[in-house]
Amino acid sequence: MPKKFFNLRFDSESPQDSVGGAYLAPEGQGLPCCTQCDRQMIPFLQFTLPRAAELPFVDGSRLSVLMCPEHNEIPSFESFEALPPAYWDQGEGHWFASLEKPRAMHRVPSPPVLQTAELVMADAPDDEYYRIAVGGEPEWVQDEESFTCSCGSPMEFVCQVSDSFQFLKLPDAPEQPDGSSARGYVLFLSNEVYVFACARQCDPRAVWVTVQN
Ligand SMILES: [Zn+2]
Ligand SMILES: [Zn+2]
Repeated sequence: MPKKFFNLRFDSESPQDSVGGAYLAPEGQGLPCCTQCDRQMIPFLQFTLPRAAELPFVDGSRLSVLMCPEHNEIPSFESFEALPPAYWDQGEGHWFASLEKPRAMHRVPSPPVLQTAELVMADAPDDEYYRIAVGGEPEWVQDEESFTCSCGSPMEFVCQVSDSFQFLKLPDAPEQPDGSSARGYVLFLSNEVYVFACARQCDPRAVWVTVQN
């Protein structure tokens, strides 16, 4: 699988593959809410899997990673190899991830927190240190991890976000509580973030996020 990168472009109107911006949700669904504070989450990453990355999922599947603008802990304190049943409901409740097979979607406005940027696929990152990689092999900061879905299928790597990657905020948006910069937000306490999904796509929520630093 070739590794590709997503670079950010801030001049696009209503991009579908984006950081921030409106959430492209399945028909009948809206923005998920944080179970800790009930606030609507915001899309940190949402994109249709680029064909060029040759990821082993249904063509046209769409990854979304959302997190509460107030709550920014790491996704899980437990380390699993075999993920428990309905593991997607057992996280800390301040984040949401899904890999949807192609289906009818609609745009849901999200709270104005992050600057909207289009994710534009490229062979090389604009910034070697702060990058969003998709496909290929994960680059582990510590020991390699692997996961098995509760359905028995392996979890396949989807994408990786560099530690300390800044998701630039709108000028009027509040600073992220326990964030690390006045200019932007970070995902999961600015750890290196790795996203995996069930190879069988047994459920749209069969996505697992692990972090390292
Ligand atoms: Zn919250
Ligand atoms: Zn599964």
